[in-house]
Amino acid sequence: MLRQYELVERVKSYDPAADEDQLNRAYVYAVKMHGAQTRASGDPYFSHPVEVAGLLSEKRLDSSSIITGLLHDTVEDTDATLDGLSEKFGDEVAGLVDGVTKLTQLELQSSRTKQAENFRKLVLAMSQDIRVLVVKLADRLHNMRTLHFLKKEEKRKRIARETMEIYVPLTERIGIRDWKEELEDLSFQQLNPDARASITARLQFLHNEGGDLIANVVDELRRLLAEAGVKAEVQGREKSAFSIWRKMQRQNIGFEQLSDIVAFRVVVNTLEECYQALGAIHGAYPVTPGRFKDYISLPKPNGYQSLHTGVIGPDNRRIEIQIRTREMHEIAELGVAAHWVYKSSPDQAKPQRDGKQYRWLRDMLDILSNASGPDDFLEHTKMEMFSDQVFVFTPNGDLHALPRGSTPIDFAYSVHTEIGNRCVGSKINGRIKPLRTELRNGDQVEVITSKAQTPSPAWEAYVKTGKARAAIRRFVRSKQRDQYLSLGREVVQNIFQQTDHELTEKALKNVLAHFDVESVDDLYVAVGEGRYAAREVLYAVYPGAKAELQQAAPVKKAPPAQSVADGSKHTIPVKGLIPGMAVHYARCCHPLPGDRIVGIVTTGRGVTIHTIDCKTLETFADTPERWIDVGWEMNEEDPPAFMGRLHAVLANEPGSLATISTVIGRNGGNINNLNFTSRGEDFYEMLIDIEVTNVRQLNNIIAALRATAVVNSAERAQA
Ligand code: MN
Repeated sequence: MLRQYELVERVKSYDPAADEDQLNRAYVYAVKMHGAQTRASGDPYFSHPVEVAGLLSEKRLDSSSIITGLLHDTVEDTDATLDGLSEKFGDEVAGLVDGVTKLTQLELQSSRTKQAENFRKLVLAMSQDIRVLVVKLADRLHNMRTLHFLKKEEKRKRIARETMEIYVPLTERIGIRDWKEELEDLSFQQLNPDARASITARLQFLHNEGGDLIANVVDELRRLLAEAGVKAEVQGREKSAFSIWRKMQRQNIGFEQLSDIVAFRVVVNTLEECYQALGAIHGAYPVTPGRFKDYISLPKPNGYQSLHTGVIGPDNRRIEIQIRTREMHEIAELGVAAHWVYKSSPDQAKPQRDGKQYRWLRDMLDILSNASGPDDFLEHTKMEMFSDQVFVFTPNGDLHALPRGSTPIDFAYSVHTEIGNRCVGSKINGRIKPLRTELRNGDQVEVITSKAQTPSPAWEAYVKTGKARAAIRRFVRSKQRDQYLSLGREVVQNIFQQTDHELTEKALKNVLAHFDVESVDDLYVAVGEGRYAAREVLYAVYPGAKAELQQAAPVKKAPPAQSVADGSKHTIPVKGLIPGMAVHYARCCHPLPGDRIVGIVTTGRGVTIHTIDCKTLETFADTPERWIDVGWEMNEEDPPAFMGRLHAVLANEPGSLATISTVIGRNGGNINNLNFTSRGEDFYEMLIDIEVTNVRQLNNIIAALRATAVVNSAERAQA
């Protein structure tokens, strides 16, 4: 185990500004908090955070990351709290530890999930600060190094599989090559011990056979490059068992056919020298066709740059060679961690990375191109990747990716359309929450359904997914169709009844073609929508009916409107007004005594009274000084009349207008004006102005109208 002073010295060696005192305190604190806890290996638990911090220091991470490594398990596994940490070590460290703890909890929660890709994105999305992810990867690496101490094979395999599926790709993305290879190899050891053992044995055999093969090739390449005048460092490195195995699988070839068990690396100083070295090598050895790749002009998504080529080299052996600059080499070895290397590098001549190689970190790109220096980079390395997405769990641990801003309704529809259509409520992390709640990363969402529930058109305002929106619209449309269907059926039935004609399904079927519809229901809908008149249906079925109907009595008109009672006879029944001011009742909302009202002052025009829910009031939202608080004051025996306005839909059949005027009259209202906005000949849609004394009277009239057979709907008109 790394000793306290060793760790501190190592950090100080690359970051002289590191807070030594804080590092020491964090080390002591971790030892104290983990106390007598032990690992499966029998080691004291605190050896684990210390090793994690050690791994981070090998990558020369900043001291906050090192301290986070030391403390990363204290909140999860000991009595330590985040508040306590931020008191002792500051908000930055506490925030990083919090991030690592969340990832650890996530791991526990989602052990059943099979969707590796989504899970990787979730880990990234939750690692708001890239250092959180690097600490988590170091944590995983140390856990993998000690995995063999776990007794249950099943558990070892599960952890190895998770490492392979989740953490290896993340490490690759971040670009820490040796961690990636080690994680891969440790997982391989658990998942396919036989394959690994046979490849390792084979490699050993080749060693014994080939002797100093690697050293010979390295020497020869060095000599060749020196002759060509290229200053280069040459290394040879055996590939890992896992990468050999994967190559054998992928290319379906045997071990003997592999050309690149050993990779040779040529590191030069400048970009030009890369191509000079390539020219020298290609000039000296026959090239293996199809093996040349230029990752310098076309870098890999994680920023990796190199020239790759394959040649028949010394001793007629096929070898693979990578050529790169020193800087490219550091990026290839350290990836994102290379930024800390640059930060600590006193050699200012080294160019700052322009960030283009981190294209996969969409947000990081912005930060890098805007940041003035590496300190800025550290400050702003918030990982906003996938910030347009949110990842949530089903109760079974399945992971769903939704657009950011999604609600439990989106989630319900993403599980199944039926579940969406029937959702009545939701539980988020076990607690009942409103359906409009915005989901957050890692939420576990449970949808509560009811067979009686149907989608509400209002949901459309708070869904984000196209699937949910389309389903809601589809449902609302079908509901509208139902309404048109019943309206149309009623209107057609009425006209047949009133003219004493028999209405049969069969008769209607015979005339479907005439109306260009496919079914009787479609015909009813067409009538309900006003595309055809019920009369036309009647004439189509019984052509003789036309003449009969024309002789029938014309539809009665509404009685002539009486004039509105003159308000001036009465004192103005509104209190709260400035004396002497003219008063108008707004035509948009037609306020009635009993309505809650508000006055709007218009210079030169006095006060206009609106209902409190009138939409026009939005216009005055920015001018609160014009609003005056008013109320009704009705104390007269003979109250003045006010104009109320209704919107009504009624069937167009003989006598229907007479019926509604009777209903209105019986309830003490006078029809003042009728304004048709009818869409079809079979039903009217109209505005009815009625004189009433207060809102209660108007509501009585509405109730009475709704109870009337010919009335399809009646409600107070909204401007
Ligand atoms: Mn840990």
